Amino acid sequence: MNGLVVIGASYAGIQAALTARAAGYAEPVTMIAEERAPPYQRPPLSKDFLLDEISAQALLMHDEAIFSDNRIELCLGDRVVGIDRTAGRVVLAGGAVLDFERLVIATGSRARRIAVRGAELDGVCYLRSIADAADLKARLGHAREIVIVGGGFIGLEVASSAARLGKKVTVIEAASRLLERAVSPVVSRVLLDRHVRAGVAVKFGTAVSAMIGDGGRVAAIELNEGVRLGADLVVVGIGGIANDELAIAAGLDCTNGIVVDEHGRTACPGIYAAGDCANHYSRFAEGWIRLESVQHAQDQGRAVGLAIAESHEPYDSVPRFWSDQHDLKLQIVGHSARSDRSVIRGAIEAGRFSAFNYRQGKLVAVDSINNPTDQMVTRRLIAAGISPTPEQAADSSCDLKSLLK
Ligand code: FAD
Repeated sequence: MNGLVVIGASYAGIQAALTARAAGYAEPVTMIAEERAPPYQRPPLSKDFLLDEISAQALLMHDEAIFSDNRIELCLGDRVVGIDRTAGRVVLAGGAVLDFERLVIATGSRARRIAVRGAELDGVCYLRSIADAADLKARLGHAREIVIVGGGFIGLEVASSAARLGKKVTVIEAASRLLERAVSPVVSRVLLDRHVRAGVAVKFGTAVSAMIGDGGRVAAIELNEGVRLGADLVVVGIGGIANDELAIAAGLDCTNGIVVDEHGRTACPGIYAAGDCANHYSRFAEGWIRLESVQHAQDQGRAVGLAIAESHEPYDSVPRFWSDQHDLKLQIVGHSARSDRSVIRGAIEAGRFSAFNYRQGKLVAVDSINNPTDQMVTRRLIAAGISPTPEQAADSSCDLKSLLK
């Protein structure tokens, strides 16, 4: 009899299992991982790994001994294909059946596929796993003209890496600015300027209507208005989709991910979800959200682990995200959707500043460029629900830490 079964061995699943153990959960733990690679860090895949500045070995999340030391049986290269929640069982692709008393679904998300003519051509790539990254790195070596579809985080990071490798890069973005849903307009503008200075071309307000092949390989892309751009490599980064099909088939409540409470519990006793695949209510977003970030996966995984060990502590972390593009470190704390005012602190021209984003007078998010100090203090302010006035925020001599006292 298995105590805990965890589906997915990445940030959320591993954190849940290790936390449960550390908090005293004593039953057997089995973790099923579809990927054959031992658990690894994903963020460097679009950054240092593409530039050959970090090896596959250095990407590993943990020393293998951590699993045996914590009596966690890690099964790599197997896939859960069904959950029978009434019987308390999961079925693996190889046919094995595992009983569970507690189940954590930490299946993450996958890249959204582009649905246009020619999308299946060789040379049209996505980036999610280490296998995708190794393939993309090899292709980047030979590519001359690269088109990135989507000016989101992954697209822009790949654009930055490809430009550093001396490639001709064009980013196609359907919206009118970069990272429209994640950062304030001024941050979008600074990022755009930096990409353009690095030689990256960006086309806004247009979408790819077809990929054109030559002998089965992509040779060009066609835009909505009929314009063609040469491309021997296309990287599609148009967002992620929750891997919630197993949960849906098991009859769990899913709306843009598996619906969970502040302890990562689904409505089915003993079944939890965390990370990219889960949807939770966030007081910071004032709504239900599905987040795709390392911090979220780990913190929500921790809440799940504590709940499994009957040591409940609600998940209430301020959302945080980072992205490295060229020499800019972008950090975001909070959730800026529906913000109605943005105030700048610091010097944009010096390349070190933050945009303080307000919603109805309340500070809801801060986007910083090369400014980790602002991030540290504003994380605490947002967590405590303290809003500096816009005048205080804009005044670099105002000590924001003093507002915490
Ligand atoms: P995942 O890391 O997606 O892991 C889920 C695992 O479950 C996968 O290994 C999957 O194969 C496995 N799985 C799925 N279904 C099954 C099944 N049926 N049976 C068995 N196993 C299964 N976040 C940041 O905060 N900052 C960054 O700079 C950043 N950069 C990123 C760059 C890239 C290229 C990518 C892809 C992501 C980046 N992210 C970044 C996002 C971050 O990596 C994710 O939010 C995080 O990995 C989510 O962790 P997770 O444990 O929820 O799921």
